[in-house]
Amino acid sequence: MSEAVAAVGEGASDAAVPTVEVEGLTKVYQAGDPDLAVRALDGLDFRIERGDSVAIVGPSGCGKSTLLHVLGCLDRPTSGRYRLEGQDVANLDEDALARIRNHHIGFVFQSFNLLPRMSAVENVELPLLYAGVSGGRERALSALARVGLADQAHRWPNELSGGQNQRVAIARALVTRPSLLLGDEPTGALDSGTSADVLDLLTTLHDEGTTLVLVTHDIAVARRLRRAIWMRDGRIVDDGPSGPVLDAFIEATAGGADAPA
Ligand code: ADP
Ligand code: MG
Repeated sequence: MSEAVAAVGEGASDAAVPTVEVEGLTKVYQAGDPDLAVRALDGLDFRIERGDSVAIVGPSGCGKSTLLHVLGCLDRPTSGRYRLEGQDVANLDEDALARIRNHHIGFVFQSFNLLPRMSAVENVELPLLYAGVSGGRERALSALARVGLADQAHRWPNELSGGQNQRVAIARALVTRPSLLLGDEPTGALDSGTSADVLDLLTTLHDEGTTLVLVTHDIAVARRLRRAIWMRDGRIVDDGPSGPVLDAFIEATAGGADAPA
């Protein structure tokens, strides 16, 4: 195991160390012409304490997905600091970032992102194979049981409903026992009943100690989380207990400036 991964693990045992701590976090997408550079994240400062649940809301294009990708070590910031469980991860190389992702982060996407030619249990087992963990099949089966799909383990994604596929994706995200679970519109492709089931599952995992961060345009989903961060143009407009932040966000949306997307 690399030093970087070991160090993140050590941080995790210290309750005083926040799961996420960012300072001046900036992401600039550079098109050829410097005038066309997009500051998708424009100097963000915040912490997320261990075990917290956070909704990220804001209009389309404000930087929500970019932020989640950086927090999930799928992408690196252009500048600024990012400490994940006390370990500086902003400047790690691709291999080190991949190890951090495999061991510490679970990611759930709107479109599930399952591999179509693999069964449910094979999809769930994949992160364990990448992480070099033994006993993967058994752990994958028990993760599927946790999301209520023990009897569907050998089905392919095209044989499962949207809600079932998202539960497979959640099983895949939790099978490595990540300290940070990230979702980018995880209920966005689901009907309202299925969406409620998936949300129940995510909040149950959170109740068991996983730090949960969800990007969502669904205010009812956001209200289930303790804290909300409202973004606009790559910056934070408001950040605090979800009730008041979301009330202010809806108020602004009614005025048209921050139509959720
Ligand atoms: P949101 O998820 O809030 O809709 P994004 O994080 O996807 O916003 O995008 C933030 C800004 O960055 C937008 O202006 C978007 O067009 C731009 N952007 C996102 N990804 C890229 C990319 N890969 N290349 C260039 N610009 C991008
Ligand atoms: Mg997005």
